[in-house]
Amino acid sequence: MTQQFWLVQPLFTGIFFALGIILFFQLIVRSTLRHYNHQRQKIDKIDFSVGRLKLISVAYFSCLAIFFEYSAANVRNYVAFINFRLLLLIFVIVFLGLRSSLIIAACDILAHLVFYQFSIETFYHAVFIVTMFAAVYLMIAWIRHDKSSAAWIIPGAEGLVIIIWFTVHFINIRGVGTIGWSSVWFNSISFLLMEMVLFYSLSTLFHENQQLLTVTRQASIDSLTKLKNYNVFNKEYTHIFEQAGQANLTLTMLEMDIDRFKNINDHYGHLAGNEVLIQVGMVLKRLTEQVDHAACYRTGGEEFSILLPRLSVVEAGQFAQRLQTELDQLNVAYNHEVIKVTASVGIATLRNYDKNADHLFERADRMLYLSKGRGRNLVTTDETSL
Ligand code: GH3
Ligand code: MG
Ligand code: MG
Repeated sequence: MTQQFWLVQPLFTGIFFALGIILFFQLIVRSTLRHYNHQRQKIDKIDFSVGRLKLISVAYFSCLAIFFEYSAANVRNYVAFINFRLLLLIFVIVFLGLRSSLIIAACDILAHLVFYQFSIETFYHAVFIVTMFAAVYLMIAWIRHDKSSAAWIIPGAEGLVIIIWFTVHFINIRGVGTIGWSSVWFNSISFLLMEMVLFYSLSTLFHENQQLLTVTRQASIDSLTKLKNYNVFNKEYTHIFEQAGQANLTLTMLEMDIDRFKNINDHYGHLAGNEVLIQVGMVLKRLTEQVDHAACYRTGGEEFSILLPRLSVVEAGQFAQRLQTELDQLNVAYNHEVIKVTASVGIATLRNYDKNADHLFERADRMLYLSKGRGRNLVTTDETSL
């Protein structure tokens, strides 16, 4: 076997193995994000220290730690996987935080105890893991405290690895033995290369995950009022309509349009108009949050749709009255001026003859325009028009 073959082969295996671990973790992260999306749970930032992401990451990396212990025990070679162990340790402390990484380190120590039984070697192993944990943790805490670039982790960890491999070369540790110079250099250099590849791929993946989250959010949330936009309304309304039709459930819909909004823009300016939309949005959000299953959307410039599943027309009418009272009390302050707003409302409820979602929507819209025609700041329901 040539020297070149000996050097290149394990290095490539190491790099692709590490990339495989990260790729699989990325798949788990993406499916968790999809799950959050599906459950309509809004998250602004990927945080591995809370919720489902925390649970899944701790489980995944604990399994990996146990796997490394099992594999090393099988070949009866402690030094195998030292580089991987360290990479894993750095990764979990950086991304999962102190608590989760402590659990993973404890799993590693326990797995070692199970696979090797209690001996002086298991004691050495526990001391090794705890020392490494403390060293990596302190290094990361120092980098963060100093607000230095995260890339400093690379030379920092490399320094630790060189100390470990030099120690293993010079000191004959029981159960570990010594290794030759070529292994010291090979292990130190391959750690550096694996670390750089991982650092680059992780930074890229995490940046892209965050971007995906932002883009998904922008595609569904109106940036001005922070209410769900027309895209989401379309999707959710069709779904809720079909559900209500199949299960014979009540579904009432409320359409609202701010009165003479163009005048507000013309009189106070477009930015003042925006401020009115923001504050009306906040009122709508607060009121809908008080009703089970209700959802509010900005479906047009100054038009809003509210879905009220399980509410009768009478209850929806009471909701609309609460809304109008709140709007009546709303004083939008802008540039030392106070802007008052009113809105017209149309309410329609699901009937047997509504064959598709558009029928109900159009009726609610018609009711809204009846309110406009009757003088504005009014509520019209489809009970009266039947
Ligand atoms: P009506 O009582 O009949 O509803 O009258 P209106 O003036 O409210 O209705 P109209 O449809 O004539 O005007 C709506 C205006 O809303 C026109 C448009 O410029 C304005 N608008 C739409 N989106 C925004 C926005 O995001 N910000 C601001 N400031 N204005 C907007
Ligand atoms: Mg209007
Ligand atoms: Mg309008």
